Amino acid sequence: MKLAKRILPLLFCLLLLVPQTAFSASAAPLSAAKSVQAVTLYGQPITLYTYLLDNENYVRLHDLAWYCSAGNNAFSARWSGADMAVYLTTGGIYIAGGTENIPHTPGPVSAGLIEPDPYALYVDGEPVSVRSYTINGYGYYNLRELCAALGMSVEWDAALRTVVLRPARQASDAPTILVDAGHGGSDPGSISPWLGHESDLNFDVAVQLAELLRGAGYNVVETRTSDQTVSLDERQELIQSLRPDLVVSVHHNASESRTGRGATVLAQIADQSGGPSRQLAELLNREYASLGRPVNSIVFRRGWRGDYYAILRAAAEAGVPAVISEYAFIDNASDWRAVGTAQARSAEAQAIYRAVCDWFALQSR
Ligand SMILES: [Zn+2]
Repeated sequence: MKLAKRILPLLFCLLLLVPQTAFSASAAPLSAAKSVQAVTLYGQPITLYTYLLDNENYVRLHDLAWYCSAGNNAFSARWSGADMAVYLTTGGIYIAGGTENIPHTPGPVSAGLIEPDPYALYVDGEPVSVRSYTINGYGYYNLRELCAALGMSVEWDAALRTVVLRPARQASDAPTILVDAGHGGSDPGSISPWLGHESDLNFDVAVQLAELLRGAGYNVVETRTSDQTVSLDERQELIQSLRPDLVVSVHHNASESRTGRGATVLAQIADQSGGPSRQLAELLNREYASLGRPVNSIVFRRGWRGDYYAILRAAAEAGVPAVISEYAFIDNASDWRAVGTAQARSAEAQAIYRAVCDWFALQSR
């Protein structure tokens, strides 16, 4: 009886495995070594807790899903015990369960704790062959095969001892984002007694934002690539001719009273009661709040020809969602520190980046 109890489920699993995951039916390797693998994803360094089996990295699905959720290779994962299957949906939104990227289970890994994983794996409804094992009770998937199934490229940078994951999306069909660094050249924008020209702050954040977005596979066009003068007319013409999928204009605030505080996002008047630019403004506010910024109401300001602000108006005329982000007031002592260091400006760029990625994920739902 004892033997039958052990063998029957195994036979059952093997039967299930044959049609979908031929790889998994092969004999389990005898040993797995705990590994902490350096990985570059979307151009950003991440750490994955993996197991090495036969010199290949095996990763937990939800760890990769969690990291990918910040870029345009987001995928959702659904387990079905009834089907003995895991369903991945590319472009789906991954809901974090709070157990992502936790370190390995303590203790040694003995051969008896490594078993072929009985679950079949599907990507967008199609069965895929990805070797997987249950190690210490968790499912681990062959990183290279999993990424290939999700359409991502995997390379090994021997010099840096890093796995480099790149987005699947070809540059030609990736969305195009216009990153607009406000002011520049002969137009310094606001001037801060502590930080100098607003145009330089805008540029610093915009360059980092553009880099992050390119790393995630988006096409990025910048209105300026140095401290150069680009008129509002030129920026509007660029929007009209390029017709990007999104315009993000990076500014920093000032006010006559010099008492302004907090982050302010300006969105398009047509979206005042709901729409894509309002949606992005809300995502930006959520990210800014998570960095501890006070968040002001979204500004919708009407001029006599539609949007009051030229960038928003030109984009609206071209049918392109656009926002202007004013992360902090730089003209007063209580707010300028929010952008006072290189570290703070990089946090700002990353916040905008996350909001933009989330926004695109919502559009593709
Ligand atoms: Zn400005």
